[in-house]
Amino acid sequence: MKNLIRFLIGIIIIFLIVITSFLIFSSIKNDVKMPKLETENLDFGKIEYNNENTALYMVSTQKLSSSYNFIDLRINEYVDSLIASVKNKDLSEYKDKIKDSEILKQKIDTYKVNDNILSVKVTSMLKKSDEEKYTTSVKNFNFRTDLKRELELNELFKESIKEKIGEGNNFLLTQNKLKLFSSSKATSYTYNSLKEYNSSKLLTAENYEMTQEEYNELMSRVIDKDRKMVAITFDDGPHKTNTNMIIDILKKYNARATFFMLGSNVKLYPDVVKDVYLSNSEIGIHTWDHKDLTKLSSENILSQVQTTSDAIYEITGKRPTLLRPPYGSFNNTVKSTVDMPLILWNIDSLDWQSRDPEKIVPLVLNSVKDGDIILLHDIHATTIPAAERIIDSLTKEDYQIITVSELLEAKGYDTSTTRVFYSGRQ
Ligand code: ZN
Repeated sequence: MKNLIRFLIGIIIIFLIVITSFLIFSSIKNDVKMPKLETENLDFGKIEYNNENTALYMVSTQKLSSSYNFIDLRINEYVDSLIASVKNKDLSEYKDKIKDSEILKQKIDTYKVNDNILSVKVTSMLKKSDEEKYTTSVKNFNFRTDLKRELELNELFKESIKEKIGEGNNFLLTQNKLKLFSSSKATSYTYNSLKEYNSSKLLTAENYEMTQEEYNELMSRVIDKDRKMVAITFDDGPHKTNTNMIIDILKKYNARATFFMLGSNVKLYPDVVKDVYLSNSEIGIHTWDHKDLTKLSSENILSQVQTTSDAIYEITGKRPTLLRPPYGSFNNTVKSTVDMPLILWNIDSLDWQSRDPEKIVPLVLNSVKDGDIILLHDIHATTIPAAERIIDSLTKEDYQIITVSELLEAKGYDTSTTRVFYSGRQ
């Protein structure tokens, strides 16, 4: 008898547990609809869906998940702000008529314009449940992946053209179109593929064209192998003020140079290193403290190179691939110890000796030829005006002023097999 009572009590307890948990589960289910997560591959990245459905609002949104953290942050922050604007609406408005809930639908489109530019279009549609039509708005984001920042419209156009376009900075670059969005409409301008761009007119629409300089600035450069080219190198920096002045000159002429830096100066002026890196000039290694490498053990040679490489990597996130040995001094130990090409020069400006542009400029210009590597030093103030005159003359003589790596690649050298370069002459 006792056993039977225990058995019945047991049954009742189990029954109560089942009923209770069923009630708890079903109430949760009624309160919150779990977001439905899916993924979909876009032009770049993936999207995740997020649906929330309550009495007060319905949102159906997308979030971007790509390999670019800074892009995801920017986009998802914007999407979050859209969602928040719906959720945080003043509730008094809904007091009497709960059916007027807000509905937000939002969609992401991505565009891979070229290797350096990715664009994202975020379309959002908003209405109250009793309204017929959605109010649509479009917000565009265009990113430079090489510079890890957003691309501004004024980077695409000359000042005068910018005025014609007007204030709107809401634009979208796709593979072959520039779309300008205003509050009432979107205007499209078609251009040839940015990658294959080959004439001075980028945008076929009347009055919209990009200058060659602006285009080159924007795009990863295409070196024309049929034109003359030269690599200008600056040693011993970075310098507190001189280096940035040289960067400005290079930008003005759409030129790039190679800066062989000392690790000790990299440590002193990290901001300058960053500026050089962002200007698209190249950074090479010139040892930590200007040691003659032929007088060092293998171990010390490696340490001179590695510490400098580490210091540059810490600032730019990119390891240099070229070494310029101080004094141009190297031997077989140096060659076999260091796993990167040694970059010497074939045109010595002797700027450190004369400190005189009147001597530096003709010394370079009288002997320069296609494929040359020119040696200058950005630690000397007198080198700045000299460099400007050299760059000006070379540009007028139709030289492409490019980095050492660009030069060696354009001239067809394999830097993994050839270890020492005095020039890119063939
Ligand atoms: Zn040096």
